[in-house]
Amino acid sequence: MSIKLKSSYSNIESWFRGNLHTHTTESDGSCPPETVIADYESRGYDFLCISDHDILVDPSRYQRNTSMLLIPAVEVTANGPHIQQVNANNRVAPNPDRQVVVREIIADQSICILNHPNWGAQYNHFPHVLMESLDGYHGIEIYNGVIQRLQGTALASDRWDRLLSGGHRLWGYGNDDSHQPGDVGIAWNVVQAEDCTVDQIDVGLRNGSFYASTGVTISSIGINGTTVHVKTKDAQRVCFVSKLGVIQLIVDGAEASYSLPEDLNQALSLSYIRAECYGAGGSVAWTQPIFIEEEV
Ligand SMILES: [Zn+2]
Ligand SMILES: [Zn+2]
Repeated sequence: MSIKLKSSYSNIESWFRGNLHTHTTESDGSCPPETVIADYESRGYDFLCISDHDILVDPSRYQRNTSMLLIPAVEVTANGPHIQQVNANNRVAPNPDRQVVVREIIADQSICILNHPNWGAQYNHFPHVLMESLDGYHGIEIYNGVIQRLQGTALASDRWDRLLSGGHRLWGYGNDDSHQPGDVGIAWNVVQAEDCTVDQIDVGLRNGSFYASTGVTISSIGINGTTVHVKTKDAQRVCFVSKLGVIQLIVDGAEASYSLPEDLNQALSLSYIRAECYGAGGSVAWTQPIFIEEEV
C-alpha cells in the first residue's frame, strides 16, 4: 500500500477571476445591475454572478454591454440560512427544509454553496449541525466580504476544517456579497481553465480547480509524489493546514513545499492538506484541500 495525493488542480497556466455573490437594485443592493457590472469590469474581473435574493436576474440582458462573463445565479434566502445557486437555470424556491433546496439546486444542475456561516451575533447564521447533516452541496463560503461590516466573522475556514475533518469533501469559496460600492473587490475566486466560458468556469468551480483570495495571487499548485508545491506571486508566508485545522508547516516566502510524513498511518491521519498564503495588508489566498488517500 502507498499514499496518493488527490488534487483538483492541473497544469493549465491560465486563471480567471470572479465573484459569485452580488446584489443589485433587483433586491436589496444599492446600485442597478449595469452600474455593478461596470464596477467589477473596471477592476479587471473575468466573470461575475448577479445573485439577488430569491430572484433570478437574466444576465443575457446585460451581456452585450460587457466583455466580462455573466453567469446566472440566485441567493436562496427566505425561510432559513442562505444558499447560493450558481449557474442557475431555474430559480429554486426557498423551501424551509434546506435539504430540499440543496436537492433542487443540484437537480437544476447548478452549483450549491452554503453562505456566510459565521454571520450574526451568535456567529452561527448556518447552524453547524445543519451543515453537517445536509447532503450534496459543493462547498461553503470561507470568506464573505460584507460580513466585515456586519456582526460575526467574514472568515469561516473554521467551519470548513470541521466539515472536511468529518469526511465531507467540500470546496471553499470567497465572495464579496456586495450590496453597495464599498463591498466590491473584497474576496473572489480564481479558476484554472483554458478559456473563460460558462462551461469551463462551471467545471472549475464544481470540481475544485480554483482558489479563493482576498488579495494574494497563486501561480501554480503542483503535486510531485507525496509533496505539495504552492507557488505565489506575492505571498509572504505559506501555511499548510491539515485535519481539524492543525498547521503542519509554516514557510516564510512566496513559494513553499510540504512533504507528507513517510509513515503511512501518520500521513493518512492528516486526511487532507490545504495551503493558506498570506500577503501584504492581511490578504490571504486559500487553496482547495488536497486529499490524502490510500492506494491499494
Ligand atoms: Zn446572504
Ligand atoms: Zn447575499
